[in-house]
Amino acid sequence: MDKRRLAILGATGSIGTQALEVVREHPGSFEISVLTANRNVDLLISQALEFRPRVVVIGDDAHYKILSEALSATGILVQSGPSALKEVVQREDVDLVLTAMVGASGLEPTMKAIDAGKDIALANKETLVIGGQLVMDLVRKKGVHLLPVDSEHSAIFQCLSGENQRTVEKIYLTASGGPFRGWKLPELENVTVEQALKHPNWSMGAKITIDSASMMNKGLEVIEAKWLFDLKTSQIDVVVHPQSIIHSMVQFHDGSIMAQMGLPDMKLPIQHALTYPQRQANSFERLNFMDYPELTFQSPDTETFRNLALAFEASERGGNLPCILNAANEVAVDAFLKKEVGFLQMSEVVEQSMRQVTFLSELSLDNCLETDQESRRVAREWVKKIGVGIN
Ligand code: NAD
Ligand code: MG
Repeated sequence: MDKRRLAILGATGSIGTQALEVVREHPGSFEISVLTANRNVDLLISQALEFRPRVVVIGDDAHYKILSEALSATGILVQSGPSALKEVVQREDVDLVLTAMVGASGLEPTMKAIDAGKDIALANKETLVIGGQLVMDLVRKKGVHLLPVDSEHSAIFQCLSGENQRTVEKIYLTASGGPFRGWKLPELENVTVEQALKHPNWSMGAKITIDSASMMNKGLEVIEAKWLFDLKTSQIDVVVHPQSIIHSMVQFHDGSIMAQMGLPDMKLPIQHALTYPQRQANSFERLNFMDYPELTFQSPDTETFRNLALAFEASERGGNLPCILNAANEVAVDAFLKKEVGFLQMSEVVEQSMRQVTFLSELSLDNCLETDQESRRVAREWVKKIGVGIN
């Protein structure tokens, strides 16, 4: 088998570094053509020296000089800035692009990569939340594979293998419930950034960890699933499953349910996407059922965790509403991490932005990018208006 030539966008993050562990596990299967990062120049340098890509891109221009000096003797091409990101994904020596950067920055490079006929391993869920219709139209037009990396979506994808899509009645996305599962509004009022950053089962980047604590992550995943699997919002249910062993389930129209299980380890869905359609043997730790004598399930509490209800609403109404939700949430999470707003105020920023920004039922790339900008502006105003400057 020819080596699959990879571009890893966001190589220095949680998904990016785990993807490189998968590559180390299968040295004969992959070649790294492109590595990118936003600011973590030291790690990018050491990754470049180990994996010898053809080109590296640093998002933040301020780090260009140090990167190019460190790699000057290697023959590795060094570029910087968002436009370089859109170019490198189209390179002839790239077969598959792993999108592992955070937030709305994923949309344009992913669209460019699809346009150039590249297969996509999609970790950046925000891409589908913002521009689901546009992305899926382009995927169909170009005939590329869009392979989910998110563990829930990888689970659904695996359960659907060999099945007729029309026989799907509904899907269940499982959610761990995060560090505040079972908590009520008065207790959530004063939670700290440090508490919210402690996820019980997964170790992830800061933004998705806060999204998991606030249930926005599951909301974004509902929208992601709608597009990936061509479902109606009413066909998607969320089930809280604190052990994170069942990664998600599909219910078929004969009542049969398929579940995909495994340890909560992102290397498994990452490897599945990178090696698809092969399933390759590996040495990763195995699940021992005796370590999990009880698998339990609960309904999500959407009155306490408003974000999930807001995301269902955005998914149902469609148009630019998911884009508004996403942009406002990015602003809200950033403000929470900077201690400018409290935990519960994040939902307020999102909800007020959804009510205030003009609803558009039809999406183009241009109005999608405009909505993103406008929503960030409105969300920042709300942060100022309601922010409490917590310590
Ligand atoms: P992270 O913060 O650990 O890493 C983000 C990476 O993207 C870093 O390499 C960073 O340098 C780069 N980056 C950040 N902002 C950028 C920008 N504006 N332009 C270009 N590059 C940028 O994040 P993560 O936890 O690895 O998550 C990455 C994506 O994968 C997110 O969309 C997240 O929702 C999704 N995801 C993550 C996990 C997980 O377990 N971490 C699971 C499922 C989905
Ligand atoms: Mg997930």
